[in-house]
Amino acid sequence: MKIITVEEHFTDPEIVETNAKYGESSGMKNLPEKIRNSYNSMRFTGNSLTDIDEVRFDFMAKQKVDVQVLSYTNPVSDMVPQDEAVRLCKKANDILSTVVNRYPKRFSAFATLPMAEPKEASKELERCVKDFHFCGALISGTWQGKFYDDPIFFPIFEKAAELNVPISWHPEFPDGRIQNYYYLSESYSALTGMQFATAGLGWHLDVGLHMTRLILSGIFDKLPNLQFISGHWGEGIPFMLDRIDQIIKPKTTGLKKKISDYFHENVYFTPSGILSKNMFEYMVKIFGASRIIWALDYPYIPFEYCSTDFLMNSDLTEEEKNLIAHGNAERLFKL
Ligand code: CA
Repeated sequence: MKIITVEEHFTDPEIVETNAKYGESSGMKNLPEKIRNSYNSMRFTGNSLTDIDEVRFDFMAKQKVDVQVLSYTNPVSDMVPQDEAVRLCKKANDILSTVVNRYPKRFSAFATLPMAEPKEASKELERCVKDFHFCGALISGTWQGKFYDDPIFFPIFEKAAELNVPISWHPEFPDGRIQNYYYLSESYSALTGMQFATAGLGWHLDVGLHMTRLILSGIFDKLPNLQFISGHWGEGIPFMLDRIDQIIKPKTTGLKKKISDYFHENVYFTPSGILSKNMFEYMVKIFGASRIIWALDYPYIPFEYCSTDFLMNSDLTEEEKNLIAHGNAERLFKL
């Protein structure tokens, strides 16, 4: 069965170097030194993000992956000055397009956008979709502490809806204020705090909550065909949807539908390498196979077995497996 995975990361040394020059992100800026050092000591090294021909193809062969949709992990830092960010995003997308062009049957890609310049970001999205046939764009976290329901970002989402391409939403360090408030404590180590604030829990809840904010802003009433892709099985929100609907009703939100309706109709979900049988079965039961797309979060999750077997050995029907493995991605990305 053909396998397409959609949260598969890539980077280029020049993009990393330029980002590092300005600071990784505003979420890291105000952190205590010891937390920042913990993060930096755990940063991914090696060439699995940059290499194509050896490390990546070897992984794809072992995992029986036919097509990876590539993306920069956390594209261009929100600390990069605006003009430089526009230039850097174009450069990042140009580099990615050469990879896709070299192996068009093995790769597609999400664009990286200069979010601080929404007009430029819309133009860049259009360029990437029309000229490079990219699948959409990947955005991350918040932008300098601003949520994407801020009207300044609307033109970007309007353009995605017009082009009929989805936005994939990736976690990033929560804003420094949030980290200090929720995730730091004298009673545990800096490393615990860092993992608690990021991939252990914090940055997932950050994106899940942010997705809910975007729905509350009414964006999907304005742009009903806009689609998002939410990794890590929906970043914690699916389990709370019944409660959210119970309390936050259309008569108070002024929205056309219940909040869960937007999650059902405007969001696709991926495992991002969390191959938990319980979560998988819950998500299929709640949203159906037609809303789930496969993703392994290359190269961050090491699998000592063929992770594709997780899907193939599940109790789903062949039709459901086909949808999750490739059918939904082909339909959504027009591959
Ligand atoms: Ca990831």
